[in-house]
Amino acid sequence: MMMDMESQRKKRYALIYLSTVGILLGINACTSAPPLKTQNKTMESSVAPLNTSAHQEGRFEVTPLIGDFKVKRTTLANGLKLLVVEDSSSPTFAYHTWFDVGSRHEVAGKTGLAHLFEHMMFKGSQKYPEGVFDALLEKAGAEGQNAFTANDHTAYHVELPKDQLDLIITLESDRMVNLVVDDQSFSTEREVVKGERHYRTDNSPEGVIYQTLFEMMFTQHPYHWPVIGYEEDLDGMSAQDARDFYQRFYAPDRATIVVVGDVDADEVLKKIEKAYGAIPAKRTPDPIHPQDLPQTAQRRKKLPLHIENQKLWMGYHAPESQSPDNAVLDAIQAILSDGMSSRLDRALVETGICSSVSSGSFELKDPGIFAIMTDLQKGKSAAVAESIILREIERLKTTPVSAEELQRGKNLYRFHFLDRLTTGDGIAHFLGDMEVLYGNFTKGLEFQNQVHEVTPERLMQVTQKYFTTDNLTVIVGVPKK
Ligand SMILES: [Zn+2]
Repeated sequence: MMMDMESQRKKRYALIYLSTVGILLGINACTSAPPLKTQNKTMESSVAPLNTSAHQEGRFEVTPLIGDFKVKRTTLANGLKLLVVEDSSSPTFAYHTWFDVGSRHEVAGKTGLAHLFEHMMFKGSQKYPEGVFDALLEKAGAEGQNAFTANDHTAYHVELPKDQLDLIITLESDRMVNLVVDDQSFSTEREVVKGERHYRTDNSPEGVIYQTLFEMMFTQHPYHWPVIGYEEDLDGMSAQDARDFYQRFYAPDRATIVVVGDVDADEVLKKIEKAYGAIPAKRTPDPIHPQDLPQTAQRRKKLPLHIENQKLWMGYHAPESQSPDNAVLDAIQAILSDGMSSRLDRALVETGICSSVSSGSFELKDPGIFAIMTDLQKGKSAAVAESIILREIERLKTTPVSAEELQRGKNLYRFHFLDRLTTGDGIAHFLGDMEVLYGNFTKGLEFQNQVHEVTPERLMQVTQKYFTTDNLTVIVGVPKK
């Protein structure tokens, strides 16, 4: 589908990072993978703790965000969550709808359904048939209209001039309940998605490694299969599967609407209540996912790929996003690979062994992955890079990092957080993401504070806990002969 605005913004800042993992993570367009919490930019910034205490204002819980921005949050009787940030600096607003549904809600044999269904959401309703939705938004001056699906969520977003609030509320509330999924448009869209799969996975070396890493590391959990799905599953799917998926999971009690921009929160609430208030909740329980048992032996694979130089990916099982250990892993990421003075950049890129290195946790609800990814230089072997990475991990386990190096990492981390919030669309993305991931965005703010409380001792403990030989999965991509 169309370009994702936030990705474009990220792209400008994180060139090295994206050259390594951007395409494979699919953050370019109609996304089908979780973003990595990593970037590459240096800047000094304040690390004062964020204020996460809320007060009540009418029906809204009000929490400070950054600067003068406040988040006004409320929940309708049918479970629909609404978050509004008033910002009149530009006569526009961003409108996001985040659904707490993703590829984790699929079953084996029907993989890719969440993402294929996301495409179907643009196919029209009885009242606004195919093409009308897009035409109305285009006429209204919409920018960046798009959607993306990931393991844990699906989001729909657009930016509009301030006087178009009624239009978007009308269209979005309509397709939450009145979507028409007909057989013909389903078949057409399935071919579009298969094309997307070829582009993203089959014809992308990083896509193949990415898919293989998840398949090797998750043998029980639905994170095992790619968000884009397997081709044979897509082929075997019917429009009825899409209709069933819609009936089960698309409901106000799985949705969070985020509006950021030149709007009045009380007015937004009034309009939202009017348009969505009568849509009944479904209370479809989340499927119970089998969890993987702890990995007890190292897993390795060599993948022949259409590449010139070798690639090395190393994955360690990491805890669920709610775990306080995750904040420590983010600090570890900053020390290992954030910026040119990070440890792995100096040891691998500066020395001419690798052309790039990145690392980080995938943002996932259930226990996930901390990955380290490198592209080797011509003639250099992944084995050498692996031994250097293991040496650097060993050093983290045994020698406390200096206060100065830790502070540098924390400053970078805070910078990336603030950088996410530089546009209305970025703020809406952060809030929607955190609501789905944690149930309440304020936990995302608290997480920021946790990163800033990481001590050298905690950093050593967490490295020792997760970065073990048995917990490691290694994939080496080698040029196909
Ligand atoms: Zn797509």
